[in-house]
Amino acid sequence: MTESSTGRLRPMPEDWRRALAVVAHPDDLEYGCAAAVAAWTDAGREVVYVLATRGEAGIDTLDPAVCGPLREREQRASAAAVGVSRVEFLDHRDGVIEYGTALRRDIAAAVRRHRPELVITLNHRDTWGGVAWNTPDHVAVGRATLDAAADAGNRWIFPDLAEQGLEPWNGVRWVAVAGSATPTHAVEAGPGLERAVRSLLEHRTYIEALTDEDPETYAREFLTSTATAVGERYGGKPAVAFELFGR
Ligand SMILES: [Zn+2]
Repeated sequence: MTESSTGRLRPMPEDWRRALAVVAHPDDLEYGCAAAVAAWTDAGREVVYVLATRGEAGIDTLDPAVCGPLREREQRASAAAVGVSRVEFLDHRDGVIEYGTALRRDIAAAVRRHRPELVITLNHRDTWGGVAWNTPDHVAVGRATLDAAADAGNRWIFPDLAEQGLEPWNGVRWVAVAGSATPTHAVEAGPGLERAVRSLLEHRTYIEALTDEDPETYAREFLTSTATAVGERYGGKPAVAFELFGR
């Protein structure tokens, strides 16, 4: 094991007001870091969610035309459970999101709209660690988000954005990647854990299609065991881990 996968995690920076979370699918943030979001909104910080898709290809038994609007509703309820009232969808197609300039431009536009100091995304690497393969959507959106944090500050990369009134925003100080196999920082999960369970439970249709377990038991056990495992590297306190990229 390398030092980065076993060492003590540092506390996340706290000197910021606005965060923008950009992920591929409904439920990515709820599996990844909703307890941290709950703690942040409790402290009066503003967090906005941007989703590249509506997760319309996520449930085998549901046609995408039915699934998309349903999962959008579940995502909005899920965000509200942790104090997030603004949820936007970029309308990329679930399962086949393409990494490239179109995606970077859409995310850079969102960064300029919301002007965050902290940007959050989900694991952009090929695996979750070891041989657990990641999905191409997460890889594409994670990488494009890391790139777009810088693109948003450059007037000349996507000049049409400024023509639409979206002036450059070069104020992103960090991009925090949830679900990384090599985390560096953490946020205490305890205070937000119960709301994180509520937040994940709002994805009830997805969870019921995924498991025969009672949804609440499933959500609580998943989030508690993940937070407890992270806590072993955070002074024994249940926590949410991030890999923090400074700018
Ligand atoms: Zn996902």
